[in-house]
Amino acid sequence: MSDISFFAASACKITSVKVVTRFAPSPTGALHVGAARTAIFNWLFSANLAGDFLLRIEDTDRARSEERFERQIIESLRWLGIDWQGEIVRQSDRLDTYGKLAGRLVDEGKAYRCYVTADELGRRREEAREKGEVFRYKREWSQLGAAPGKSYAVRLSVLPGENIFVKDLVRGEIVFDSSEIEDFVILKADGFPTYNFAAAVDDAQMDISHVIRGDDHIINAPRQILVAEALGFGKPKLSHVPMILGADGKKLSKRHGAESVTEYRSRGYLPEAVLNYLVRLGWSFGDQEIFAKQELVKIFSLKGIGKSPSVFDPQKFLWLNGKYLRDMSEERMFEEIVSLVKKKEFPEQPREKLRKIIEQMRERSETLNGIVDQSLYFFTDDFEYEEKAAEKFLVEKNSQIFEFLLEELSCLEDFSYNDVHGGFQRVMKRTGLGLGRIAQPARVALTGSTKSPGIFDVVEILGRDSVASRLTRAIQFIKSRNA
Ligand code: GLU
Repeated sequence: MSDISFFAASACKITSVKVVTRFAPSPTGALHVGAARTAIFNWLFSANLAGDFLLRIEDTDRARSEERFERQIIESLRWLGIDWQGEIVRQSDRLDTYGKLAGRLVDEGKAYRCYVTADELGRRREEAREKGEVFRYKREWSQLGAAPGKSYAVRLSVLPGENIFVKDLVRGEIVFDSSEIEDFVILKADGFPTYNFAAAVDDAQMDISHVIRGDDHIINAPRQILVAEALGFGKPKLSHVPMILGADGKKLSKRHGAESVTEYRSRGYLPEAVLNYLVRLGWSFGDQEIFAKQELVKIFSLKGIGKSPSVFDPQKFLWLNGKYLRDMSEERMFEEIVSLVKKKEFPEQPREKLRKIIEQMRERSETLNGIVDQSLYFFTDDFEYEEKAAEKFLVEKNSQIFEFLLEELSCLEDFSYNDVHGGFQRVMKRTGLGLGRIAQPARVALTGSTKSPGIFDVVEILGRDSVASRLTRAIQFIKSRNA
């Protein structure tokens, strides 16, 4: 790995800075598609510049963080093929560091201990709300000393009347007025840091050169800058990426379809399709829609990130998945379908039969699950007839077709496609009916529905025994209906 991978031109000399990005999820839920996009952007940005991409688990919200979410997030990243360098950094392992640094700021007079309890703050907040005012902490402890024995939070002293410049690589320069920022808590009474404190400390200590994240974090940027400045730490370059919205213009949520990468995975989406779709949400490269991972690594840059929110389009996502599904190698498709059939607890299918099913069904579905779900009748004789199809085709006048098919197909020599074709032709001759008049009722008897691959293929894949038992079942069904 090159260690001179990013060049920042300053006034007259060129300084080299190694690109280091990070993904810093809070393990309070599964990996949301918006967060996955953030991870992908950071990963691609560093990969493009031969830098490092690090993973940091921000688990300081003790009430909401759960280990199972951390596991899920990590699994989703791995599934997407996003790898990170080095050990995972976990904030809960770094409480000592945050405590020491907060203490240092107190000693230096840049922060102070505040003894106002959470209950008291809640009461004040409520009071302000009732009066229709914006709640501001009164800073009363900024000038007072310690109150031994009582628990306290540490707040950063924010000097009012200063401009804080956020030089955002996507949005340009944004200026914040420090008078609008209260003396915010950096260390909570339980000894845990707040997000803004821990993030600024970690970004500096992990040598993060670039932070790319959702623009819902833009309000945190001036606070993190204040923390870094108070500690005399370096600051990463910031890029805030516009949000992903649903088609109704609202923030993406469950209402707009699945939310997490895990859900898409379990619906039969492919990792390369998810990666490709998410990268295109908010980033573009001309009109190109399909990108291989290696190509993305070569061409990704912040220049392609737009300034307006992107709209999540489930139909397009599905279409893209279908495209990747069709390009998938036969071998990989086979492995995926075998494991899905197993997961869905269908009996194990003979290899050759499964190969033929995949060959027929892969063009008819946009997801792996779709392939299996539309093939159910291949896996079990015990499928249900679609009501309308049965009403129209499983009727007395077709009984004879089924009887003849049973006779002609049962005695076929090797049950090959050509053999099956011959069997149908003999039934056509015996009944004087065209293929369409025979194939459609046969399709309903054999699959329960009026839609399926070509009838000869279906018969060949099902095999002699299954076809015989299904035709018999259809004949019985008609009889029992008439009785
Ligand atoms: N833990 C924050 C989140 O999950 C990270 C924000 C950041 O990247 O600084 O939103």
